[in-house]
Amino acid sequence: MNKLKAPVFHIIHGSFVDGFGIRTTVFLKGCPLKCIWCCNPEGQAFNPELKVTAGKCNGCGNCVEVCPVGAIKVTMEPEVNLIIDRKLCTNCMECLDVCYTGALEKFGENYTVDELFAVLKKDELFYASSGGGVTIGGGEATWYPEFTLELVRKCKENYIHTAIDTCGYVTSSDGIKALEEADLLLFDVKGINDQKHLKNTGVSNQIILKNLKHLAAMGKAIIIRVPVIPGYNDAEEELRAIAELLSSLKSVRRVDIMAVHEYGKVKYEQLGKEYLLNVQPIPQERQEKIKALFESYGLNTQLGG
Ligand code: SF4
Ligand code: SF4
Repeated sequence: MNKLKAPVFHIIHGSFVDGFGIRTTVFLKGCPLKCIWCCNPEGQAFNPELKVTAGKCNGCGNCVEVCPVGAIKVTMEPEVNLIIDRKLCTNCMECLDVCYTGALEKFGENYTVDELFAVLKKDELFYASSGGGVTIGGGEATWYPEFTLELVRKCKENYIHTAIDTCGYVTSSDGIKALEEADLLLFDVKGINDQKHLKNTGVSNQIILKNLKHLAAMGKAIIIRVPVIPGYNDAEEELRAIAELLSSLKSVRRVDIMAVHEYGKVKYEQLGKEYLLNVQPIPQERQEKIKALFESYGLNTQLGG
């Protein structure tokens, strides 16, 4: 039995936006990037993390008594107020067992490849009838390279189509192999200007673009995802540079323009992290113009994933 394990923070059944057909998408925890606009902040750290929904707290105080490091404070006046000192919290999760309201939960559950595959296999009739399959995302799907490679192989042995959603910042040989062996890649391109890329995501784009060119040269089917964030990577010059690069890669099937949104904001609160992004939504008219810009480079482009 395979003993490799990885933490999963979410599984979506019946997704239409993570590749072709109906898909089951699994999100692995851990990512080498720290994008300012990240909408899955619970996918950044590799370890399971305490998830706090303070509004569900009834003030019973059970958690205060069991916390071994005194990280929890509950006050009742003028209303119930649950405070977690994240500097003290060790994510031991002992408080979860005594919280019955759902105020304390966790992001991330460890799975072996076999355990995860058993969950994914249950949906195989949907994959078969729709031309869908399994999508492995994150976080970064290749952050656990051996695990992801093993999962891709196991799906393929069972005739299940595989897609990997990747930020492209992959340096391990098994991580590269996983990308090479998956049937489809959803590959993020967040910018061409390297200095801006470093500032926006915490890493240079050199490895990302090198991997993208390598995978495209193999003829790998790729859907490119371009997050568009006003003031960060939406200058016309930057968008044209992205479009020009993509138009030179013959195996790009489609480009998805991902306009900024704030769906992840509540998760920053649940993690006790500060939400730093402060931008306005992109008007539909401007999104259409960006789509037209990419189409003018001969790229099959759509708005959204
Ligand atoms: S996870 Fe552990 S350390 Fe953190 S608040 Fe709960 S009991 Fe305390
Ligand atoms: S155990 Fe849950 S409901 Fe009770 S005080 Fe702690 S967080 Fe609130």
